[in-house]
Amino acid sequence: MIPAMLLEEIRKSDRVLIASHTQPDGDAIGSMLALGVCLKALGKTVTLYNESPTPAIFRFLPSVNLIGDQAGDLSDYDLAIVLDCGDLQRIGRLSEDIETIPALLNIDHHVTNTLFGTFAHVDSQACATAEIVYHIIRDLGVAFDKTMATAIYTAILTDTGSFMFQNTNTAAFAISSEMVTQGADPYTVAQCVYATYSLGRLKLLNMVLDTIDISRNGKLSTMFLSQRMMEETGTQLDDIYGLVNYAKHIEDVQVAALIRETHMGMNGKGVYHVSLRSSGEVDVSSIAARLGGGGHHSAAGFKMEGVSLSELKRSIFSLAEAL
Ligand code: 5GP
Ligand code: MN
Repeated sequence: MIPAMLLEEIRKSDRVLIASHTQPDGDAIGSMLALGVCLKALGKTVTLYNESPTPAIFRFLPSVNLIGDQAGDLSDYDLAIVLDCGDLQRIGRLSEDIETIPALLNIDHHVTNTLFGTFAHVDSQACATAEIVYHIIRDLGVAFDKTMATAIYTAILTDTGSFMFQNTNTAAFAISSEMVTQGADPYTVAQCVYATYSLGRLKLLNMVLDTIDISRNGKLSTMFLSQRMMEETGTQLDDIYGLVNYAKHIEDVQVAALIRETHMGMNGKGVYHVSLRSSGEVDVSSIAARLGGGGHHSAAGFKMEGVSLSELKRSIFSLAEAL
């Protein structure tokens, strides 16, 4: 159920800024596009903002060029909608000034959501933010076209790990089925998202697999990805998508961590992003939240700086004792 107040806020606004998190995934991109196209159909002036470039695997999406990295003059907007962000800082630089826009709707499905904004609609039971966006579009009375359908379908497909993750619910299948009826083409989406890996990505995978470490009790695994590996393989951030799952699929492993060096600092201390994945039993969102990050039950992450790789690995391996 979408709260009437949220729909009212959208209906009465004319100039809308829609934003989502940096390093966007399929849910961030798909949710923005679907809602953006819907609001345009209602005659609103809409800007779709993301600080990061759209990953190559999502550039096939119809109307994807509506997404840009310029929000313009924030005083021009009467409504901001932030999608798929557990906290406002996830949108990046704009998080400092976006709150000057008179109304800010926070629409998300992360359990760790901080409930920022003038109105927060967080449904942690939703398989993807796109599930919530689907209901908003329907409640606003806008008919789905091929663009919206492809965006919503891609968002749900990717956020549920092709209907394999724990967040896969009945709505994931029901909405996907309806989106296919409205013009989404599962074969095209699968080819673009999953079957067009660069050679560099495969070489990077090879290097990252080589770094797998398992805790003594076998329940936790780590993988490491350095800036140098990316330079050597000529890969970019989009090529990392899904790599962490390889460490999760190892038998007995309950928690998998992918440690990515984002900046190499002085004295061997760096800045790292850690992606956590759970095979089901363990809630990694609470682990990530304790370490200043957030996420979902089975997929979460956090950043750590001013530590060496060995210190970081030691503290991650200490988590294994509680498993
Ligand atoms: P990934 O590991 O793919 O970067 O992210 C998995 C999930 O964890 C995503 O849903 C994302 O929202 C969340 N997440 C990842 N990194 C961070 C972080 O640094 N802070 C917060 N709050 N959430 C994160
Ligand atoms: Mn999501």
